[in-house]
Amino acid sequence: MIKFFEKDPYSPIQYVYDVEKVLYKGKSPFQDIMVIENSYFGKILILDGVVQLTEKDEFFYHEMLVHVIMHSHPEPKRVVVIGGGDGGAVREVLKHETVERIYFVEIDREVTEISKRFFPTVSSGVDDPKVEIHNMDGAEFIKSRTEEFDVVIVDSTDIIGFAKSLFTVEFFKAVKESLRDRGMFVTLSESLHFHKDMVVNVQETMRLVFPIVDLYTTPIATYAGNWWTFSCASLSLDLRQIRRECVKDTRYYSEEIHQQAFLPLSLYKKLMNKELEW
Ligand code: SAM
Repeated sequence: MIKFFEKDPYSPIQYVYDVEKVLYKGKSPFQDIMVIENSYFGKILILDGVVQLTEKDEFFYHEMLVHVIMHSHPEPKRVVVIGGGDGGAVREVLKHETVERIYFVEIDREVTEISKRFFPTVSSGVDDPKVEIHNMDGAEFIKSRTEEFDVVIVDSTDIIGFAKSLFTVEFFKAVKESLRDRGMFVTLSESLHFHKDMVVNVQETMRLVFPIVDLYTTPIATYAGNWWTFSCASLSLDLRQIRRECVKDTRYYSEEIHQQAFLPLSLYKKLMNKELEW
């Protein structure tokens, strides 16, 4: 049996997958792209040697990335998805009937093409008429926008290479400028087990810009450290509160999960004061 050894730049352990079949192996102008088949996880999308999604568990990540702030916002109409080339985040945003327009800003169009070919249930929404595709750097896209969007979602690769532009104070300032009042923002921020300092760093940088910043987590079997974090921010409203009826067709996200996903305040305080001893 062939094995795939993941090359996660920030992981202290290495994940190894049995490969039933290599379905695709190529190189875009931005990154190496590979799709493999595994007997437990189904098809797996790999970029630059790092697992991005598996058929088996992608819904945990996509639902939690999208639905928490989409349900905190009272009426999200104009939503930006930066990265997320596979289309999973767009699919989840489309479940919200309030949404009129999705600006899907993925730097690498080949990721979307591969996803359409191998992951049709993930990419199912990308050709929806509400979706406007921009193949460019998300930081460049957001730079020129003022008070246009209700929600901005970052679904990028790990904080390395061209994804780094999405974690700077300049980017967060531009996101803030681009939001309408009551606007909200969410981004992945790595694992609380393996990357505690990175989580704190993203939180601290966001706190320099946004008046309200919070943190929630979800278990993801295939991301290094598993206890995955999402850093979120808001211009005026508390993110822990749900303000609309929950969408029905989710497998993991629910009203209860929304409430339980946020870090308890005592733990959050310890994290930010750098008092967590692990
Ligand atoms: N859920 C995944 C994870 O955390 O492993 C991310 C999946 S999605 C495939 C990540 C996408 O972000 C990639 O297709 C990559 O091309 C895109 N991306 C990275 N940096 C970007 C940037 N600065 N602007 C736009 N897209 C970017």
